Amino acid sequence: MNKSEFIPISEPSLGQTELEYVTDCVKSGWVSSLGKYIGQFENGFAEFCGTKYGVSVFNGTVAIHLALVALGIGAGDEVIVPTFTFVATANAVLYTGATPVFVDSELETWNMDPQDIKAKITSKTKAIIVVHIYGHPAKMDEILAIAKENNLKVIEDAAESHGAEYQGQKVGSMGDVGCFSFYGNKIITTGEGGIVVTNNQKLADEMRFLKDHAMSTERKYYHPLLGFNYRMTNLQAALGVAQLEKLKEFIIKKQEIAAWYRQEFAGVNGLGHPPEVPWASNVYWMYSLLIKPEAKLSRDDLAKKLKAKGVDSRPFFLPNHQMPYMPPEVQKQNFPVARVLSEQGLNLPSAVSLTREKIKYVAECIEEIVTNAQA
Ligand SMILES: *Cc1c(COP(=O)(O)O)cnc(C)c1O
Repeated sequence: MNKSEFIPISEPSLGQTELEYVTDCVKSGWVSSLGKYIGQFENGFAEFCGTKYGVSVFNGTVAIHLALVALGIGAGDEVIVPTFTFVATANAVLYTGATPVFVDSELETWNMDPQDIKAKITSKTKAIIVVHIYGHPAKMDEILAIAKENNLKVIEDAAESHGAEYQGQKVGSMGDVGCFSFYGNKIITTGEGGIVVTNNQKLADEMRFLKDHAMSTERKYYHPLLGFNYRMTNLQAALGVAQLEKLKEFIIKKQEIAAWYRQEFAGVNGLGHPPEVPWASNVYWMYSLLIKPEAKLSRDDLAKKLKAKGVDSRPFFLPNHQMPYMPPEVQKQNFPVARVLSEQGLNLPSAVSLTREKIKYVAECIEEIVTNAQA
């Protein structure tokens, strides 16, 4: 391939249908938060997840915030979250006034460790946010059992895992609510966007009410609660409807890309590969690699050398408990598995538009760099 060409970590895959539906919004004037695409997208996405209701919002972070507020979580409460996740998970808890209580990950799935959840439950714990990281489902049976035993709500943060399955069930459909993001680098995109899916009608109604300024349906401009404007626009939903038509195809392509990488990396020493357990299907939002000590070079060195060869990559997330605005005693906590993941992990180019040839190029670059480091 042409080596002057830069291979990005991710790029949206947009086509004629997206253009057609968005053009329809512009031509008809329905560009704000009323219009036919919103209901179509909400119902279509909920159906895809195997849930009854979908409440669209303008990004994935407010999806989590809205769900927490509708579940009654606020100041004085504790919410258990994995420290190894994108920072939006813990931030949404902080926005409610509640306290995020961090747990470590397990090496088997890179998701929250059920044993550590048990250890962190107190009389103030009200909920668990389960993140399905990088496309791989968490151990839902164990987590749901812990939640039931302790009367806790379960919020699934499935922002990176559209369509992933735990024992045949779609992520987002197993907890009280499932939250998704449609940011530009997610498996499908609406530009910015999010949704909360649920089977609980009361909860869905409460979220619809809260996201629209909590305005009374009987009395205009009367707001019995402190609400928000978290509405998605018809323009975003139009993109979403078009992307939803391709979601299954995108997932198959992501899994194909993962299989290509795995094949290319066979025989390369010092690399760790994304989890793949028999009871789940990974949708491989990204192909996530661990650069182990045996590789004899650091993750950051590899990323720098890849960049020089025109290959983009991203380090894994920094554990959330380490953020400078977390209380000092929280920053000092020790999460050994999250630390290893965070220090060794690198996400590789994973856009659904990538060809086999480009994956081969990326893998050959990595093999060359790693082999040289070990020589
Ligand atoms: C992307 C992401 C979010 C937030 O979504 P936005 O749409 O960017 O607000 C939340 N949680 C996780 C795990 C994510 O990856």
